[in-house]
Amino acid sequence: MKRKTEILILGAGLSGTLLAAQLEREGYSGEITLLDARTDFSQEQRWCSWANPLPVLAPIIKKTWHRWKVVDWNFSTTQSSLTMPYRQIYAPDFYSHFHSRWKSQNRVSLVLGEKVLRVEEKSGIVKVLTDKTFWQAKLVFDARGNFYRLKNQVILYQTFLGFLAEFTHSVFDTETITLMDFRLKGSSKLASCINFVYILPYSETEALIESTSFSQTPVSFDVHRYLLNEYIKEHIGSNFVVKREEKGMLPMTVAKPQCYSNRAICIGISGNAIRPSSGYAFHRIQRQVSQIASALVKGEEIILESALSKYDILDAIFLELIVSNPSAVKESFLRMFSLSKPDVLIRFLMDESSFFDDIEVISTLPKMPFLKASWQVLKRKELKCNESKSLDFALSDSMDKPARKLAV
Ligand SMILES: Cc1cc2nc3c(=O)[nH]c(=O)nc-3n(C[C@H](O)[C@H](O)[C@H](O)COP(=O)(O)OP(=O)(O)OC[C@H]3O[C@@H](n4cnc5c(N)ncnc54)[C@H](O)[C@@H]3O)c2cc1C
Repeated sequence: MKRKTEILILGAGLSGTLLAAQLEREGYSGEITLLDARTDFSQEQRWCSWANPLPVLAPIIKKTWHRWKVVDWNFSTTQSSLTMPYRQIYAPDFYSHFHSRWKSQNRVSLVLGEKVLRVEEKSGIVKVLTDKTFWQAKLVFDARGNFYRLKNQVILYQTFLGFLAEFTHSVFDTETITLMDFRLKGSSKLASCINFVYILPYSETEALIESTSFSQTPVSFDVHRYLLNEYIKEHIGSNFVVKREEKGMLPMTVAKPQCYSNRAICIGISGNAIRPSSGYAFHRIQRQVSQIASALVKGEEIILESALSKYDILDAIFLELIVSNPSAVKESFLRMFSLSKPDVLIRFLMDESSFFDDIEVISTLPKMPFLKASWQVLKRKELKCNESKSLDFALSDSMDKPARKLAV
């Protein structure tokens, strides 16, 4: 049996669901179908960001923090911002909010438990083969959250595992998150570059405590579990229970592979929305879906940013440095987060910085290591041009290409 729809979104995760919600909000009148292989959306996950959230997210932002700290053995810095708080969306709340609305209002057709097997385009029509049927759509958005198209272009993997832990006594300052705590004993034995702990406190006794690594080969979740237990016992306390676990793996690269055609468009992680040096994608996903929805409603071209941005250049240098000189990177994080104007750094991290913000951030960084890393990045670009060889470091893949314009 063949099924037809106008817009078909493959993957009802963060970017797919948000695109459907944004199209609905903008008043898109065509038929929208949102399809996912999953039927269970209760998996432990949260998305955090300093970015101003899209209005469709306002009812589900339950947690915000105004203060954050970065910690090492001999140093710690705490910063705050009244204007740019760190906001969290809890994934199960996000899914139940939109699913219950679409079940009762029928504005978006939700098709769950159906796995996409193939996507192809013929004569301006996109066909999608699933394990249940054939779909035909005018426009397909692939939001399946995978990064297989990056192939060997991933420079580093960000792996993380967190415990939602409850303690028997008060141990947390509920106003302050820990963005990075480098005091992870045992991590120096790992073949990873950077390891730290991230803590989101929900009450004086409960927090998400997460071990994170940036490494050339992924660090296993068992190793993260071990490191985390050691860290908690040493720095927080021994009387706790793990209520749930959150885990994930993200690619860190500035490569921007093209996706399908002008009628089948990748968004979210599949659409290069991850900030290469941090793994944050939430702010870019919000921007991406907002631009797409607005263009579709106005009947304008969708412009996908595939050209190299200033952030890609800086991130390429940062990734190079993580691989070649991780201790300089640790020092850089400590210095950046000590900046006397925290909003400057936050704008930089959220891709909203001005030229003067960039200068302020860059001026905090250790000069020689960054110059060396910049030179390495430039050399690689040159090698690619001269030898037209495929290199593992894929900066040049995204260079010199204009932003892709799509007729809708
Ligand atoms: C645990 C975790 C925490 C994160 N926290 C943050 C954060 O705090 N801040 C931040 O900025 N970024 C964060 N990220 C990074 C990023 O924001 C998330 O990965 C985000 O979910 C990416 O959205 P997406 O839509 O691209 O993919 P997903 O949200 O992963 O959605 C992909 C969807 O596609 C479906 N799917 C996959 N294959 C198929 C198929 N063949 N057929 C049908 N459906 C399919 C999946 O079931 C899934 O529902 C986090 C990532 C993880 C894994």
